Amino acid sequence: MPELPEVEALCAFLTERAVGRVVARIDLAAFSVLKTYDPPPSALQGLEITGFARHGKFLAADVSGVFLVTHLARAGWLRWSDALSPVPPRPGKGPLAARVHLDDGSGWDLTEAGTKKSLAMYVVHSPYDVPGIARLGPDPLSPGFTRDDLAAILAGSRQQVKGLLRDQSVLAGVGNAYSDEVLHAARLSPFRLGSSLSEAEVDELWTALQTVLREAVGRAQGLKAAQLKQEKKVAMRVHGRTGQPCPVCGDIVRDVSFANSSLQYCPTCQTGGKPLADRRLSRLLK
Ligand SMILES: [Zn+2]
Repeated sequence: MPELPEVEALCAFLTERAVGRVVARIDLAAFSVLKTYDPPPSALQGLEITGFARHGKFLAADVSGVFLVTHLARAGWLRWSDALSPVPPRPGKGPLAARVHLDDGSGWDLTEAGTKKSLAMYVVHSPYDVPGIARLGPDPLSPGFTRDDLAAILAGSRQQVKGLLRDQSVLAGVGNAYSDEVLHAARLSPFRLGSSLSEAEVDELWTALQTVLREAVGRAQGLKAAQLKQEKKVAMRVHGRTGQPCPVCGDIVRDVSFANSSLQYCPTCQTGGKPLADRRLSRLLK
Protein backbone atom coordinates (compact mmCIF):
# COMPACT_ATOMS: atom_id res chain seq x y z
CA MET A 1 0.00 0.00 0.00
CA PRO A 2 1.37 3.39 -0.90
CA GLU A 3 1.98 5.52 2.18
CA LEU A 4 3.32 9.04 2.68
CA PRO A 5 6.72 8.55 0.92
CA GLU A 6 5.26 6.80 -2.14
CA VAL A 7 2.37 9.24 -2.54
CA GLU A 8 4.83 12.12 -2.14
CA ALA A 9 6.95 10.62 -4.95
CA LEU A 10 3.91 10.00 -7.18
CA CYS A 11 2.97 13.61 -6.59
CA ALA A 12 6.42 14.81 -7.71
CA PHE A 13 6.41 12.43 -10.69
CA LEU A 14 3.00 13.62 -11.89
CA THR A 15 3.90 17.27 -11.32
CA GLU A 16 6.77 16.80 -13.75
CA ARG A 17 4.82 14.81 -16.34
CA ALA A 18 1.27 16.09 -16.23
CA VAL A 19 1.15 19.72 -15.07
CA GLY A 20 0.28 21.91 -18.07
CA ARG A 21 -1.49 19.05 -19.83
CA VAL A 22 -5.24 19.09 -20.45
CA VAL A 23 -7.55 16.28 -19.28
CA ALA A 24 -9.02 14.68 -22.40
CA ARG A 25 -11.25 12.02 -20.85
CA ILE A 26 -11.67 9.81 -17.81
CA ASP A 27 -12.73 6.18 -18.31
CA LEU A 28 -14.20 4.32 -15.37
CA ALA A 29 -13.72 0.58 -15.50
CA ALA A 30 -15.17 0.02 -12.04
CA PHE A 31 -17.99 2.43 -11.32
CA SER A 32 -17.80 1.92 -7.57
CA VAL A 33 -14.43 3.70 -7.59
CA LEU A 34 -16.05 7.11 -7.98
CA LYS A 35 -17.37 8.31 -4.62
CA THR A 36 -18.86 11.64 -5.75
CA TYR A 37 -21.41 12.53 -8.43
CA ASP A 38 -21.36 16.33 -8.47
CA PRO A 39 -19.35 17.67 -10.25
CA PRO A 40 -19.24 14.72 -12.69
CA PRO A 41 -15.87 13.50 -14.04
CA SER A 42 -16.78 15.07 -17.37
CA ALA A 43 -16.42 18.48 -15.65
CA LEU A 44 -12.63 17.92 -15.84
CA GLN A 45 -12.59 17.44 -19.60
CA GLY A 46 -10.85 20.22 -21.50
CA LEU A 47 -9.33 21.73 -18.34
CA GLU A 48 -5.61 22.13 -17.70
CA ILE A 49 -3.89 20.39 -14.80
CA THR A 50 -2.28 23.12 -12.71
CA GLY A 51 -0.76 21.14 -9.84
CA PHE A 52 -0.64 18.07 -7.61
CA ALA A 53 -0.66 17.91 -3.83
CA ARG A 54 -0.47 15.17 -1.22
CA HIS A 55 -2.85 15.12 1.73
CA GLY A 56 -1.84 12.23 3.98
CA LYS A 57 -2.13 9.23 1.65
CA PHE A 58 -4.49 11.08 -0.72
CA LEU A 59 -3.26 12.46 -4.03
CA ALA A 60 -5.06 15.55 -5.35
CA ALA A 61 -4.78 16.81 -8.91
CA ASP A 62 -5.76 20.45 -9.25
CA VAL A 63 -7.46 20.68 -12.62
CA SER A 64 -7.96 24.44 -12.96
CA GLY A 65 -9.89 24.65 -9.70
CA VAL A 66 -11.72 21.31 -9.92
CA PHE A 67 -9.93 18.55 -8.00
CA LEU A 68 -9.50 14.91 -8.90
CA VAL A 69 -8.60 13.22 -5.61
CA THR A 70 -7.41 9.61 -5.41
CA HIS A 71 -6.91 7.29 -2.47
CA LEU A 72 -5.06 4.17 -3.58
CA ALA A 73 -6.05 2.17 -0.47
CA ARG A 74 -4.46 -1.16 0.28
CA ALA A 75 -3.91 -2.77 -3.10
CA GLY A 76 -4.26 0.18 -5.44
CA TRP A 77 -1.56 1.60 -7.67
CA LEU A 78 -1.01 4.27 -10.28
CA ARG A 79 0.55 3.30 -13.60
CA TRP A 80 1.80 6.05 -15.91
CA SER A 81 1.90 5.60 -19.67
CA ASP A 82 3.32 7.92 -22.35
CA ALA A 83 0.87 6.33 -24.78
CA LEU A 84 -2.35 5.10 -23.15
CA SER A 85 -4.63 2.75 -25.01
CA PRO A 86 -7.44 4.91 -26.45
CA VAL A 87 -9.86 1.96 -26.41
CA PRO A 88 -12.32 2.36 -23.51
CA PRO A 89 -11.80 -0.44 -20.96
CA ARG A 90 -14.43 -3.10 -20.49
CA PRO A 91 -16.01 -2.60 -17.07
CA GLY A 92 -15.46 -5.30 -14.49
CA LYS A 93 -12.47 -6.95 -16.19
CA GLY A 94 -9.13 -7.19 -14.43
CA PRO A 95 -7.47 -4.82 -12.02
CA LEU A 96 -8.09 -1.59 -14.00
CA ALA A 97 -10.28 0.82 -12.03
CA ALA A 98 -9.98 4.07 -13.99
CA ARG A 99 -7.97 5.62 -16.80
CA VAL A 100 -7.14 9.32 -17.05
CA HIS A 101 -6.36 10.43 -20.62
CA LEU A 102 -4.39 13.61 -21.25
CA ASP A 103 -4.38 15.68 -24.45
CA ASP A 104 -1.04 14.34 -25.76
CA GLY A 105 -2.06 10.68 -25.50
CA SER A 106 -0.28 10.12 -22.18
CA GLY A 107 -2.00 9.57 -18.86
CA TRP A 108 -2.39 7.14 -16.01
CA ASP A 109 -4.24 4.01 -15.02
CA LEU A 110 -5.50 3.42 -11.52
CA THR A 111 -5.38 -0.28 -10.77
CA GLU A 112 -6.38 -2.40 -7.82
CA ALA A 113 -5.35 -5.99 -7.21
CA GLY A 114 -7.48 -8.53 -5.34
CA THR A 115 -11.19 -8.88 -4.81
CA LYS A 116 -11.69 -6.36 -2.00
CA LYS A 117 -12.10 -3.05 -3.80
CA SER A 118 -11.38 0.05 -1.76
CA LEU A 119 -9.60 2.36 -4.20
CA ALA A 120 -11.50 5.66 -4.18
CA MET A 121 -11.73 8.62 -6.54
CA TYR A 122 -13.45 11.93 -5.86
CA VAL A 123 -14.21 14.90 -8.11
CA VAL A 124 -14.63 17.91 -5.84
CA HIS A 125 -14.41 21.70 -5.71
CA SER A 126 -11.98 21.53 -2.78
CA PRO A 127 -9.83 18.62 -1.47
CA TYR A 128 -11.38 19.27 1.95
CA ASP A 129 -14.76 18.20 0.57
CA VAL A 130 -13.35 14.66 0.80
CA PRO A 131 -14.29 13.41 4.31
CA GLY A 132 -11.03 11.43 4.67
CA ILE A 133 -9.01 14.61 4.01
CA ALA A 134 -11.13 16.82 6.27
CA ARG A 135 -10.47 14.34 9.11
CA LEU A 136 -6.67 14.14 8.70
CA GLY A 137 -4.40 14.86 11.64
CA PRO A 138 -1.14 16.82 11.21
CA ASP A 139 1.38 15.71 8.61
CA PRO A 140 4.49 14.40 10.39
CA LEU A 141 6.79 16.00 7.79
CA SER A 142 5.12 19.41 7.76
CA PRO A 143 7.57 22.10 8.94
CA GLY A 144 5.16 23.22 11.67
CA PHE A 145 4.95 19.77 13.30
CA THR A 146 7.35 19.48 16.24
CA ARG A 147 8.57 16.94 18.77
CA ASP A 148 6.35 18.62 21.40
CA ASP A 149 3.30 18.22 19.14
CA LEU A 150 4.04 14.50 18.98
CA ALA A 151 4.53 14.40 22.77
CA ALA A 152 1.12 16.08 23.28
CA ILE A 153 -0.57 13.57 20.94
CA LEU A 154 1.00 10.63 22.80
CA ALA A 155 0.18 12.02 26.24
CA GLY A 156 -3.48 12.50 25.34
CA SER A 157 -3.95 9.07 23.81
CA ARG A 158 -5.24 5.76 25.16
CA GLN A 159 -4.12 3.92 22.04
CA GLN A 160 -1.19 1.59 21.57
CA VAL A 161 1.61 3.26 19.58
CA LYS A 162 1.15 0.96 16.58
CA GLY A 163 -2.52 1.90 16.21
CA LEU A 164 -1.83 5.52 17.02
CA LEU A 165 0.78 5.94 14.29
CA ARG A 166 -1.58 4.41 11.72
CA ASP A 167 -4.63 6.43 12.76
CA GLN A 168 -5.03 9.02 9.99
CA SER A 169 -6.96 11.40 12.24
CA VAL A 170 -3.95 11.43 14.61
CA LEU A 171 -1.10 11.58 12.06
CA ALA A 172 -1.56 11.86 8.31
CA GLY A 173 0.20 9.50 5.93
CA VAL A 174 1.72 6.68 8.01
CA GLY A 175 0.29 3.21 7.39
CA ASN A 176 1.00 -0.38 8.36
CA ALA A 177 4.45 -0.65 6.74
CA TYR A 178 6.08 2.57 7.93
CA SER A 179 4.59 2.28 11.43
CA ASP A 180 6.40 -1.09 11.75
CA GLU A 181 9.61 0.52 10.49
CA VAL A 182 9.33 3.58 12.75
CA LEU A 183 8.71 1.45 15.87
CA HIS A 184 11.66 -0.80 15.01
CA ALA A 185 13.94 2.23 14.57
CA ALA A 186 12.64 3.67 17.87
CA ARG A 187 13.12 0.29 19.63
CA LEU A 188 9.55 0.38 20.94
CA SER A 189 7.04 -2.42 21.33
CA PRO A 190 4.02 -1.86 19.06
CA PHE A 191 1.74 -2.58 22.01
CA ARG A 192 3.07 0.17 24.30
CA LEU A 193 0.47 2.74 25.24
CA GLY A 194 1.25 6.16 23.78
CA SER A 195 0.67 7.81 27.15
CA SER A 196 3.18 5.47 28.89
CA LEU A 197 6.25 6.64 26.93
CA SER A 198 9.01 8.40 28.86
CA GLU A 199 10.49 11.67 27.62
CA ALA A 200 13.51 9.77 26.26
CA GLU A 201 11.21 7.34 24.43
CA VAL A 202 9.24 10.23 22.92
CA ASP A 203 12.59 11.60 21.67
CA GLU A 204 13.41 8.20 20.12
CA LEU A 205 10.00 7.96 18.46
CA TRP A 206 10.26 11.51 17.13
CA THR A 207 13.71 10.89 15.64
CA ALA A 208 12.64 7.55 14.16
CA LEU A 209 9.47 9.03 12.64
CA GLN A 210 11.39 11.86 10.99
CA THR A 211 14.35 9.73 9.87
CA VAL A 212 12.41 6.76 8.49
CA LEU A 213 9.95 8.92 6.55
CA ARG A 214 12.53 11.39 5.23
CA GLU A 215 14.86 8.61 4.12
CA ALA A 216 11.99 6.87 2.34
CA VAL A 217 10.95 10.12 0.65
CA GLY A 218 14.57 10.63 -0.41
CA ARG A 219 14.85 7.12 -1.88
CA ALA A 220 11.54 7.43 -3.70
CA GLN A 221 12.36 10.82 -5.21
CA GLY A 222 13.09 10.74 -8.91
CA LEU A 223 11.88 7.15 -9.27
CA LYS A 224 9.31 6.38 -11.91
CA ALA A 225 5.85 5.43 -10.69
CA ALA A 226 6.54 1.84 -11.79
CA GLN A 227 9.64 1.51 -9.58
CA LEU A 228 8.15 2.81 -6.34
CA LYS A 229 6.46 -0.37 -5.20
CA GLN A 230 9.62 -2.45 -5.47
CA GLU A 231 11.78 0.22 -3.81
CA LYS A 232 9.42 0.36 -0.84
CA LYS A 233 9.60 -3.42 -0.37
CA VAL A 234 13.39 -3.63 -0.65
CA ALA A 235 14.05 -0.92 1.93
CA MET A 236 11.93 -2.44 4.72
CA ARG A 237 13.86 -3.71 7.76
CA VAL A 238 11.12 -5.60 9.57
CA HIS A 239 7.87 -5.00 7.72
CA GLY A 240 7.03 -7.99 5.52
CA ARG A 241 10.19 -9.78 6.70
CA THR A 242 8.81 -12.42 9.08
CA GLY A 243 11.38 -15.19 9.64
CA GLN A 244 14.30 -13.18 8.29
CA PRO A 245 17.15 -11.81 10.44
CA CYS A 246 16.83 -8.30 11.85
CA PRO A 247 19.45 -6.15 10.06
CA VAL A 248 20.34 -4.47 13.36
CA CYS A 249 20.78 -7.39 15.79
CA GLY A 250 20.33 -10.60 13.79
CA ASP A 251 17.35 -11.87 15.82
CA ILE A 252 14.49 -13.36 13.79
CA VAL A 253 11.75 -10.93 12.80
CA ARG A 254 8.38 -12.02 14.18
CA ASP A 255 4.81 -11.43 13.26
CA VAL A 256 1.49 -10.75 15.02
CA SER A 257 -1.63 -11.42 12.95
CA PHE A 258 -4.97 -9.66 13.23
CA ALA A 259 -8.19 -10.26 11.31
CA ASN A 260 -7.25 -8.00 8.39
CA SER A 261 -3.58 -7.22 8.83
CA SER A 262 -0.38 -8.21 10.55
CA LEU A 263 2.56 -6.43 12.10
CA GLN A 264 6.23 -7.35 12.19
CA TYR A 265 8.80 -6.54 14.86
CA CYS A 266 12.14 -7.67 16.25
CA PRO A 267 11.93 -9.07 19.81
CA THR A 268 15.54 -8.21 20.72
CA CYS A 269 15.29 -4.62 19.47
CA GLN A 270 11.75 -3.90 20.60
CA THR A 271 10.32 -6.13 23.31
CA GLY A 272 13.23 -7.09 25.54
CA GLY A 273 13.60 -10.39 23.66
CA LYS A 274 10.06 -11.54 24.52
CA PRO A 275 7.81 -12.63 21.65
CA LEU A 276 4.44 -10.85 21.65
CA ALA A 277 1.29 -12.94 21.98
CA ASP A 278 -0.47 -13.49 18.70
CA ARG A 279 -3.88 -12.24 19.74
CA ARG A 280 -5.81 -13.86 16.95
CA LEU A 281 -4.26 -17.21 17.69
CA SER A 282 -4.77 -16.96 21.45
CA ARG A 283 -8.41 -15.96 20.91
CA LEU A 284 -8.95 -19.03 18.75
CA LEU A 285 -7.36 -21.28 21.34
CA LYS A 286 -9.56 -20.02 24.22
ZN1 LIG B 1 16.75 -6.47 16.05
